[in-house]
Amino acid sequence: MTSHSAPASVTIKDLHKSYGEVEVLKGIDINVSPGEVVCLIGPSGSGKSTLLRCVNLLETPNSGLIEVAGHSVTDPDVNIDKMRTNVGMVFQQFNLFSHLTVLENCTVAQIKVLKRSKAEAQKIALENLEKVGLADKSGRHPDQLSGGQQQRVAIARALSMDPQLMLFDEPTSALDPETVGDVLSIMRQLAAEGMTMIVVTHEMAFARDVADRVVFMDGGVVVEEGPAHEVIGNPQHQRTQLFLSRVL
Ligand code: ADP
Ligand code: MG
Repeated sequence: MTSHSAPASVTIKDLHKSYGEVEVLKGIDINVSPGEVVCLIGPSGSGKSTLLRCVNLLETPNSGLIEVAGHSVTDPDVNIDKMRTNVGMVFQQFNLFSHLTVLENCTVAQIKVLKRSKAEAQKIALENLEKVGLADKSGRHPDQLSGGQQQRVAIARALSMDPQLMLFDEPTSALDPETVGDVLSIMRQLAAEGMTMIVVTHEMAFARDVADRVVFMDGGVVVEEGPAHEVIGNPQHQRTQLFLSRVL
């Protein structure tokens, strides 16, 4: 599963997002270099999912700037469909199409959005299913797989679009403990291959080992960020210390 697209940088500047009267993101600044892995941690409700959803335009920010690979995604004239093909997203709840086979799940967007031929799409899908260790399950339906296997299919599906950036929103939170490791090891492999990744996770061991940088969010702001071993091993802010004391 070689990635054909160059990894993207991500620039987020003074990002604000409100739902009605409630401001959920209160001026977020985050820069991610090409090939960098940033883990986003923080309590429930701190705005982590909203931030990821703004990056691939599942939500429209109220103000601020987001650039992926130097291209503004917050520009009103942006081609949302094109932009989304550059950004792979993996959710807590896999979101596979239950009526399609594993292979079809990994080919449908390639054919519809990237206009690849069925044969080419299948070849690329199988390469990616091979990479996540599930090529032999390509004819199965999602409900015939374990949660961990379904999440690996979701990763293969995202990778089949040749993304320049991968966003993961608590990808292992819905999994049985025994399948978490398989998903994390694929993410580890992707990181080692140089994919740019933003990962919301409560897996502190993963964050410490794999992330180049950890960003701690609370209440819609970035409270603290830095190298993973510093933020997790020696947090400076009381709110970070409190959060880590609860999750570690
Ligand atoms: P996290 O992922 O860190 O748990 P979220 O980004 O999901 O946090 O949510 C941040 C806040 O925004 C929460 O208070 C949540 O209730 C609120 N929120 C999220 N999505 C919506 C929505 N679609 N409408 C209204 N409020 C929302
Ligand atoms: Mg969330």
